[in-house]
Amino acid sequence: MQIWNGGTVPRLVSNSDAAALLDLARKFGAEQLTPIADTCEEDGLFPRELISTLGELGLLNLPFAHVRDADMEPVGVSTNLQILEELATAWMTVGLALSVHQLAASALVKFGSQDQKDLWLDWVIGGNTLGAYCLSEPHSGSDAAALRTTAVREGLQYRLNGVKAWITHAGVADFYIVMARTSEHKTQGISCFFVPADIPGLTFGAHERKMGGNASPTAQVHLDNVLIPEIHRIGVEGQGLAIALSSLDMGRLGISACAVGLAQSALNTAGKYAGEREQFGQAIANFQGVGFMLADMATSIAASRALYLDAAFRVEIGAHGGIGAAAAMSKLMATDSAMKVTTDAVQVLGGNGYTKDYPVERYMREAKVLQIVEGTNQIQRLVISRSLQSEAGE
Ligand SMILES: Cc1cc2nc3c(=O)[nH]c(=O)nc-3n(C[C@H](O)[C@H](O)[C@H](O)COP(=O)(O)OP(=O)(O)OC[C@H]3O[C@@H](n4cnc5c(N)ncnc54)[C@H](O)[C@@H]3O)c2cc1C
Repeated sequence: MQIWNGGTVPRLVSNSDAAALLDLARKFGAEQLTPIADTCEEDGLFPRELISTLGELGLLNLPFAHVRDADMEPVGVSTNLQILEELATAWMTVGLALSVHQLAASALVKFGSQDQKDLWLDWVIGGNTLGAYCLSEPHSGSDAAALRTTAVREGLQYRLNGVKAWITHAGVADFYIVMARTSEHKTQGISCFFVPADIPGLTFGAHERKMGGNASPTAQVHLDNVLIPEIHRIGVEGQGLAIALSSLDMGRLGISACAVGLAQSALNTAGKYAGEREQFGQAIANFQGVGFMLADMATSIAASRALYLDAAFRVEIGAHGGIGAAAAMSKLMATDSAMKVTTDAVQVLGGNGYTKDYPVERYMREAKVLQIVEGTNQIQRLVISRSLQSEAGE
């Protein structure tokens, strides 16, 4: 029997506070998340109370902690992403929940007016509140600017009508960031709205019947004559798509971190199994065919981690020109890698890998969605390829 020692991930932190936060996330994951993940995924139970506990611990709103407490140094993007990775290693649904909430909250933090922040910020990032981000619609996914939900101005209010599709946290979120059309112009006719969950006219469809991630609720959001005061519009009229896309850059790094965590979990399971399972009188890890698979898995996880950390450091040093392409590269690499690593983990476990007695088949199903959400990996390639070209004269 071999002893698996590939599971400890060295962390890149610049100070002891960040190291302590990572330890906290790792411990929370091991003690509170991993033990219940399988059952909750099987039964479709979203761990809402645990998300609030993460709020109390300060992890849910870590990127915004300095916004509430002016004396606090901002927590590095790299620290926050490594925490998302730790939580996703324990249970992907929870890592993803934090990432989606942060995506939604960032619209208010980055683009909200002072009046809006005075009204809602304490509540939004207080720790007990969960957000959802509503861009996709039944007929507009990759072509997000083709959205049809309307927001028609009526005096000092807007009337919202339409259907948002595939919304993570639909029905459990406390607020919804909704992109809706305020004019016919395809890209500059979209505005962004802050919609509290209890507003009349907001209802939800049935949960989507997904191949994985069933603890994470996904459903349509129906807006039926939702009347919302003008102050709920974030940014100016027509700025909605820019707000949506700017938030998505950070969201894609969150997805990358979750993908790395999920893949690390698959590698840990496969590596441990390969050390214990014997065939032909020895541990299967001794066979080069298996050992090289584990080596390739570990290498692509390390490369994916390095890429999201690279993008994070660019944000931390205020990289000129934005991080659109870097975030797209990171999401593309990390999620394609997670798909391959989790598939290979099933292979390492042989017949057992194909059963629900081990978690790797679940990891494989969970990896698939990461290649689709927040822009499919074809769309990431589009973003990257466009960043490599510019019009003559620019
Ligand atoms: C579980 C889950 C959770 C989600 N959560 C959210 C959420 O919280 N909020 C939200 O707004 N959305 C959410 N989404 C929606 C998600 O962002 C979309 O599914 C995604 O953007 C793809 O859109 P689509 O499904 O309409 O596919 P389509 O856009 O119809 O694409 C179908 C296929 O065509 C390809 N394709 C499309 N255009 C091009 C092109 N120009 N070049 C090359 N290939 C192309 C795509 O890559 C894909 O393979 C979620 C989706 C899922 C499955």
